[in-house]
Amino acid sequence: MVEKLAWVKGGLFFSCTGCGKCCTGFPGYVWLEADEIEKLASYLQMDKESFLKKYTRTVGDRISLKEHPSTFACPLLKDKVCTVHEAKPKQCRTFPFWKENVASEKAWLETASFCEGINHKEAAFVPLTEIQKNVKEKG
Ligand code: SF4
Ligand code: SF4
Repeated sequence: MVEKLAWVKGGLFFSCTGCGKCCTGFPGYVWLEADEIEKLASYLQMDKESFLKKYTRTVGDRISLKEHPSTFACPLLKDKVCTVHEAKPKQCRTFPFWKENVASEKAWLETASFCEGINHKEAAFVPLTEIQKNVKEKG
């Protein structure tokens, strides 16, 4: 079901600055689906098994990207830049428009406390329909 997100009204302001902060600094998971694994492996010109071994971990019955044990950085982040931008998984593509981040203004502002792309002076206006599309895609 598409979220109504009444508090959002027409939309929200966001443009990614490429600061890379959402890719490091705190523990978490970047879940990968089968087609995303294929796409990333192909983008990196690796076979699937090598990609899985080098960059991923199994958590329960799901697969996530690894993270650095102390910095929690994504292994695909280099010099604060995502090295797989064109092939990045939907969890990354849809950030910060995740259901939990747009559930309320409070949640959105909490997300803004580490995502400098939100509400900065040159941030683009992202219409509600686009936000809903991202929320739905992320699932
Ligand atoms: S795949 Fe790219 S965007 Fe996603 S967490 Fe890793 S470096 Fe960040
Ligand atoms: S924290 Fe926000 S502005 Fe920085 S790279 Fe991530 S999405 Fe872009």
